[in-house]
Amino acid sequence: MRTILHCDCNSFYASVECMLNPALKSVPMAVGGDIENRHGIILAKNELAKNFNVKTAEAIWQAKAKCPDLIVVPPHHDIYLMYSKKVNQIYERYTDRIEKFGIDESWLDVTGSERLFGNGQQIADKIREDVKNELGITVSVGVSFNKIFAKLGSDYKKPDATTVIDHENFKSIVFPLPISDLLYVGRNTTKALAGVGIKTIGDIANSNKEALKLLLGKSGEMLYDFANGNSSDYVTYANKKQLPKSIGNGMTFRRDISDIEDLKKGILALCDCIASRMQNKSLKVSGISVSIKDTHFKTVSKQKSLDFPTSSAQKIYQEALSIVPFLWDFEKPLRSLTVTGYDISEELAQSQITLFEEEDILLKKQENLDYAINKVRHNFGKSSVLYASILNNDLGIII
Ligand SMILES: [Mg+2]
Repeated sequence: MRTILHCDCNSFYASVECMLNPALKSVPMAVGGDIENRHGIILAKNELAKNFNVKTAEAIWQAKAKCPDLIVVPPHHDIYLMYSKKVNQIYERYTDRIEKFGIDESWLDVTGSERLFGNGQQIADKIREDVKNELGITVSVGVSFNKIFAKLGSDYKKPDATTVIDHENFKSIVFPLPISDLLYVGRNTTKALAGVGIKTIGDIANSNKEALKLLLGKSGEMLYDFANGNSSDYVTYANKKQLPKSIGNGMTFRRDISDIEDLKKGILALCDCIASRMQNKSLKVSGISVSIKDTHFKTVSKQKSLDFPTSSAQKIYQEALSIVPFLWDFEKPLRSLTVTGYDISEELAQSQITLFEEEDILLKKQENLDYAINKVRHNFGKSSVLYASILNNDLGIII
């Protein structure tokens, strides 16, 4: 099970302004865009202004009507960005899996850090202390087993609080909340669901998935999974590693080939090699290209985009094979063959399989099989698992 934190800086802009000018801490203050303009709005406010019911996104004149002594300062975006960076640098002490969500919010996957720093709640509390002590900014943290509930948790108690939403308590905490609290639920969805009597997250969880799909399409199913705690979105890495542009392998056959069965053996061997290279580096490809050279050294190639990223040898093989008829009319003999995977992305720990259809689950199974084969080869040598069709070939294919 994963441990995800959602960290949300409280009244971020206002907190930074109060730190830069401590005199602002003791008066109701807000950061407002375009103060000279009657239509300028409140971007953030401190706790004292909150007591006057000053709200984010309302017009400055409305806020001042409620709180005549409100001090409104203009925003300093460069400084906010600098502080945002500093806050995220503190998060990096606890994990390298950090996904920023706006300037003052980040998800952290701390699953791998718990042995070092304690459980999710303890890590959340440490982070809050660090940020408060070093930067003077308070943070609210939600701790849960998925991103959606972690985000709900950071909203649940503010400021400077940790809220744990686990498998035991999620129904009592999450279910009574209005659906508009759920990430990605906008006004239209709220309206559509209200029309069928669905008002709380619990109402979604206890409704019928098929009916939600009819009403809202694919996002209906997604919301059902969110409400039931079944979302498996991953948290990306803070500093993405430099990815290769492409990974390819080629071969010149020992003899020229002129029939499809021989070509299939070559393609399978190359795709198998590409797939295991990618799996070893936790990468996937979203595009495949095949190029062939005939006995007159004329080269032709063609590429194809895949529907989604994969590192399955079988999937890459099938896609590569589907390109061949566009390249080769089987009349001229072939001398060599190259298969290249491009559009490379990182393999993510939890792919969004729950949002996929059945055929994709089949693909996932195939990938898992490929991974298993790769692992066996890693432990017992490359020749421990071979494709029967490639065994004893006379084309110079060595696996
Ligand atoms: Mg915030």
